[in-house]
Amino acid sequence: MAKPKPWLEPHSHGLYVKPADLWIDPSRPVARAAVTHGHADHARSGHASVFATPETLAIMALRYGVDVEASHNQAFGYGDGFERGGVRFSFFPAGHVLGSAQILMEYAGERIVITGDYKRRADPTCAPFEVVPCDIFITEATFGLPVFRHPPTGDEIAKLIGAVRAEPNRCILVGAYALGKAQRVIAELRGAGWNAPIYIHGAMEKMCALYAAHGVDLGELRLVSETDKADMAGQIIVAPPSALNDRWSRRLPDPVTAMASGWMRVRQRARQRMVELPLVISDHADWDELTTTISEVNPKETWITHGSEDGLLRWCELHQRKARALHLVGRDLEEEG
Ligand SMILES: [Zn+2]
Ligand SMILES: [Zn+2]
Repeated sequence: MAKPKPWLEPHSHGLYVKPADLWIDPSRPVARAAVTHGHADHARSGHASVFATPETLAIMALRYGVDVEASHNQAFGYGDGFERGGVRFSFFPAGHVLGSAQILMEYAGERIVITGDYKRRADPTCAPFEVVPCDIFITEATFGLPVFRHPPTGDEIAKLIGAVRAEPNRCILVGAYALGKAQRVIAELRGAGWNAPIYIHGAMEKMCALYAAHGVDLGELRLVSETDKADMAGQIIVAPPSALNDRWSRRLPDPVTAMASGWMRVRQRARQRMVELPLVISDHADWDELTTTISEVNPKETWITHGSEDGLLRWCELHQRKARALHLVGRDLEEEG
């Protein structure tokens, strides 16, 4: 097993960059936090100072009231960064959600990349993942088991459109996380030629508006709360997963329940949520994307966190790659694949 670096300490609540006195994605309030993206298991409220991409800061402003204008918070575009305590920090696209970044740290001739969450397939709502050469690669492993192989996104979107066309008197209710997955499903539908208005739950309105303000074309969105039940027959509704089986869905015309998540690969998960139409659409790398990425980045050491560490650790061992599992807590509170 590889040794931790003296200048970068893995703690249960985040990675601490010692010479810079700065945390990456800490799960508790700190003086200085660099944040990879806006999901709640990475971006928390209460930090005195936040360093992130402009989009991530905008998302944190929307969710937690983080003041984007305040000088103690700083925004950096992709390829850009800052220096603190002799450590150079730079942000690179992670392809996960709008504004998501990998963070490259350079110190004393050593390069460490922390991916945050990432994926490799095309996503019309965010910049594609960039391979950043480094000595130590700290990768997520949400789907770090060979059983997780996501099908082509286009096939899942075609399945969704086919289902709504097959049931013109019903509607399809798609459960999708409010940050990232919902906007991606909508943008993918637009790309596949679905031009009808898409109906959304009120909890998604502001985040969809934020995406649109950042140039992501979501087409015409309408609020379910402002629409007559009969008008939603033969239409697509997008709502947070928590709304799928609650009273809210009674205002919809005989909904077929769908859910967009990498976990839908597991039948048991779909059954638990009473999902009739599982859509395997994930914002996390699947097994092949994880292993391909490690091969392409080709680091001296791989550190694995955020999911099925042991599966990916085993793969690294089999391929003579130096690796270790970090056991950080407080992950996967909200986004779920
Ligand atoms: Zn995430
Ligand atoms: Zn995450």
